[in-house]
Amino acid sequence: MRKHIFNAGPCKLSDPALKNTAEAVLDLNGIGQSILEVSHRSKDFEAILNEAVALMKEILNIPEGYSVLFLGGGASLQFAMIPFNFLKTKAFYLNTGTWATAAIKEAKMFGEVEVVSSEDKKFTYIPKGYKIPADVDYVHITTNNTIRGTEIFEDYNFGKPLIADVSSDFLSRPIDVSKYVMLYGGAQKNLGPAGVTFVIIKNDFLNNVVADRKIPTMLQYKTHIDGGSMYNTPPCVNIFTVRETLKWVKSLGGLKAMDKLANDRANLLYGAIDSSKMFVCPVVKEDRSRMNIVFVMKDQYKDKEDDFIAFAKSKNCIGIKGHRSVGGFRASTYNACTMEDVQALVNAMKEYEAKNA
Ligand SMILES: *Cc1c(COP(=O)(O)O)cnc(C)c1O
Repeated sequence: MRKHIFNAGPCKLSDPALKNTAEAVLDLNGIGQSILEVSHRSKDFEAILNEAVALMKEILNIPEGYSVLFLGGGASLQFAMIPFNFLKTKAFYLNTGTWATAAIKEAKMFGEVEVVSSEDKKFTYIPKGYKIPADVDYVHITTNNTIRGTEIFEDYNFGKPLIADVSSDFLSRPIDVSKYVMLYGGAQKNLGPAGVTFVIIKNDFLNNVVADRKIPTMLQYKTHIDGGSMYNTPPCVNIFTVRETLKWVKSLGGLKAMDKLANDRANLLYGAIDSSKMFVCPVVKEDRSRMNIVFVMKDQYKDKEDDFIAFAKSKNCIGIKGHRSVGGFRASTYNACTMEDVQALVNAMKEYEAKNA
């Protein structure tokens, strides 16, 4: 039986993406070779990569003048590549959690970093109403905070080049790509297996690359744009699974449909938490993530957290242990998570509460 998977990443993927990848691993399109064996320069693979790029452009309604890249190194390498390429003197970073903090650490190696943070309240809210200095090279935000469970639902307009780490809420709502010069993320939260990173970058923004800095070839965006993600061998099987996920998202009705599903899942689970005697969500209501639902036990039940994790497991709900830095629970309800999965967790919570509260 397939479990109810709430892992934060790698995470649950859609059934068609898994099934079609499994088939392609054994024999790609009946050509007598596995997707693991074909040349990345072959017509067969070229068609897969081209379709993945085309589906990204279609589903996200990406305007002309942007490139879609599939790279290695994870979102974490982007934390370094972005300032390496684009931080001349000063950048602005919104620090909304653990991953944003990691991005800031890298940026500080290349220049001055102006930060607005929600660390004062353990990252349980998204800062608002701050001012961005006029002289920054770019602004960096993290649209969904995978560990802390907050999310930004709007496409900001700061009048400065905007770069967003969208690793953990990618494809969960319609997004206005034209407001950003770059969107990026690790695939393993909403899009595919670990090992491939997507980058959507405005080609014109390359004019802002720091001119007098030596940047290794592999760490230049230009290399990968010019090479069509094939400067070196790309992660072929991962890109195959990404394409399958994109086909699946399209078949469900695209981003509007994913948006509704995300609302339905989040409403069901937050509803159960908010009406519970035992569980509570520490995150400010308006900023609560629909992708990573963080909750804890109220103080008088704190000692039961491990027991509840074991109980949920006995009901086939797995991956709900909170990040080690936060504790409690986190149910990651990414795109492939179904209402049945969430209902199973809600049932487990209610049953446990009836016995123990
Ligand atoms: C998981 C995650 C990362 C790190 O991704 P890697 O691909 O493991 O480097 C970065 N940002 C966010 C928002 C994440 O959720």
